[in-house]
Amino acid sequence: MSVAAWWRLLAESGWGYPHWPLGRFGKSLSHLEHTEVERARTTVGAFGVPNDVSVTLVAPTLMEHGNEVLINRYLESIATGQEMWCQLFSEPDAGSDLAGLRTLAKRDGDRWIINGSKVWTTGAHASRRAVLMARTDPNADRHAGISFFIIDMKQPGVSVSPLKDMTGDEEFNQVSLTNAEVDHQDIIGGLGEGWRVAMTMLQHERDADAVGHDGGGDVINQVDLNAPVGQVQRDQEKGGATSGFFYATGSVKDDVTFSLINQLASGEDPVLRESVIKAKIHRRVLDLNARRELHPSVGKLLNAALCRELRDLGFVSGPASQLADDDAIDEGHFLKSALFAAGMSIAGGTDEIQRNIIGERALGLPRESIPGSTTDHRET
Ligand SMILES: Cc1cc2nc3c(=O)[nH]c(=O)nc-3n(C[C@H](O)[C@H](O)[C@H](O)COP(=O)(O)OP(=O)(O)OC[C@H]3O[C@@H](n4cnc5c(N)ncnc54)[C@H](O)[C@@H]3O)c2cc1C
Repeated sequence: MSVAAWWRLLAESGWGYPHWPLGRFGKSLSHLEHTEVERARTTVGAFGVPNDVSVTLVAPTLMEHGNEVLINRYLESIATGQEMWCQLFSEPDAGSDLAGLRTLAKRDGDRWIINGSKVWTTGAHASRRAVLMARTDPNADRHAGISFFIIDMKQPGVSVSPLKDMTGDEEFNQVSLTNAEVDHQDIIGGLGEGWRVAMTMLQHERDADAVGHDGGGDVINQVDLNAPVGQVQRDQEKGGATSGFFYATGSVKDDVTFSLINQLASGEDPVLRESVIKAKIHRRVLDLNARRELHPSVGKLLNAALCRELRDLGFVSGPASQLADDDAIDEGHFLKSALFAAGMSIAGGTDEIQRNIIGERALGLPRESIPGSTTDHRET
């Protein structure tokens, strides 16, 4: 069976995304039940659903803020893994301070003409579509003047340049938008409502990070949809098409990594032993968060800390962890994800921003004042 046929079967049965609503490729199950379904699928060695931005972030945001027309237009191709999407939020001068974004959208009849520059866009080179934050009213308050578009990446006005990270992969990109076009109907959540929609998406992003086990979801990254599913699965298990980014969230926490560090716990060094125990406690807390009961920012911070702890422990566990490719015990998955671990403290909002959110939103501390700004940062 081809990957395309398998993903369609999973989507249409409702077992691919059991936490999505009934009638929308889901079974209205809880996050905990969804995790159990993913575990069962992993246990029998079955290939998982696509695992890119379209499935994890766009679909839930679309179902929450999109109208029926948009849901009918895009949800099926997302659920069945026909298209990869990316997220055009960050700009060279607007990362944490996302509301400072300058990409401009000007209305021209039924279309919007987009000009600006985005950066750190994961997977843009392989994406068919993107969600885009752009300023539709430059005179409005900086949060109010933003809209949330769906944009076709395969058009002349969109140019994608790769950025290499230290794993050697080129998953990041700089994206230039020069008179790129968007259909007026392709606005999620209504004109000027982009900030609200973006906050929903960022919450989903942090929630997805804040669970200990990635449940065996498989990456969509440049998968050949016509290839036999068994062959693609074997290639991915060998590390073939996989990049550091897609492994950092799951693999650095996986059983190979724990087997590398377990020996440290039984050694003589009390500091290493304590560090292993601490990492195991963090892993356990994240596993227990399958119900998504932790504040997303707390879970995200914990996940980023765990990635760093396991990276450091893995590196001191011996030469096995430092070998790459075929020489490594796990074809280099650990090394790649360890090199990428620092990125987990930046992607989806930095650790510092998460601490601000927890302080201001959960603990009721006074709001931070930002020089030159009367409003607040990315994660309002
Ligand atoms: C792995 C990865 C994947 C990514 N994928 C995407 C993607 O697909 N799409 C996308 O749009 N973006 C993506 N990004 C970009 C990411 O969202 C930004 O890098 C992030 O929001 C930080 O913005 P910045 O890099 O501009 O840093 P800055 O905002 O310039 O921050 C620099 C430093 O200042 C600190 N800082 C900033 N403001 C405050 C404050 N108010 N209080 C305390 N400290 C503060 C930050 O914590 C950081 O340490 C990705 C990043 C990574 C690492």
